[in-house]
Amino acid sequence: MSWVKKNKGKIVATKDFIALFESKPSHLFSWINKGAEQEEKILRALCTSMLYQQISQDHLLRFLQNLWKEYPQTALLNLPAPKEKTILQIIAVSMPPNSWSISAHVPGIIWSLGEYFRDEIRPNVRLWLSQSELSLWRSLSQIYFAGKSSPIRPKILRFIDLLRFDWPLGLALWRKEEVVDLEVKEWPIAINPGASRWMQRIGPGKLPWFKKADLKKQLQFFQEFYVGLNPKSPQLVYHGLQFYADPVAKSYLCRDIIGKCHLCPIYDFCFYKKVYE
Ligand code: SF4
Repeated sequence: MSWVKKNKGKIVATKDFIALFESKPSHLFSWINKGAEQEEKILRALCTSMLYQQISQDHLLRFLQNLWKEYPQTALLNLPAPKEKTILQIIAVSMPPNSWSISAHVPGIIWSLGEYFRDEIRPNVRLWLSQSELSLWRSLSQIYFAGKSSPIRPKILRFIDLLRFDWPLGLALWRKEEVVDLEVKEWPIAINPGASRWMQRIGPGKLPWFKKADLKKQLQFFQEFYVGLNPKSPQLVYHGLQFYADPVAKSYLCRDIIGKCHLCPIYDFCFYKKVYE
């Protein structure tokens, strides 16, 4: 990967940035892991993955916490399904107006994932967890807005990662390995919004060869990049980058955790940095 060879400074700084978060669960994952039973953890992971679109982790977390106050444990799955009006009201109290462009679709996503859960997961969780990644990836595409039109279905990849990675990255519920037809040698690690931001703002995301690549090729590049930065644990690269410039109130998650931008290893390259007088 010649870009990596030519940009050693950025690569070293990014490795140091990622190392800061190695043993730190994301706020979203900490919330998922609070599920009382396995079924609730899977439901929390599914909701988080399917609803993590066009929204910051901070706003999504507030929405999920409020949703769980209204529908504790696995009550979201009960019939009759939650009312559209109730879900929209929960969105309204969880974030400023117009901050979630897919708001109108959120009730539909929740109804659809509830139906999927009742039909496919609940009857036999063990059997459902014993599927191959590919089978699960295909099966989950029946959920509304899960990305069926995308050749890589990124939200589903993220959910599968949550199931298979160890703490503090995932629930370690399931560990099958299989070569699949996504033009990658192994089951791919997903792309999260932070990794995408890194690629656009620090990595080669704006270069013509990257922009011209289709989604499958870009996914392949991310795999090479994750492995290139950490051959033993590429999932830690994915994990660390999710903290990169994710918006929280008046700041970013990375800055909230690190304290000051000038203490951050990628300060010199960061588009989002705050320069102090
Ligand atoms: S916003 Fe600040 S803390 Fe976050 S990556 Fe950029 S320089 Fe680092």
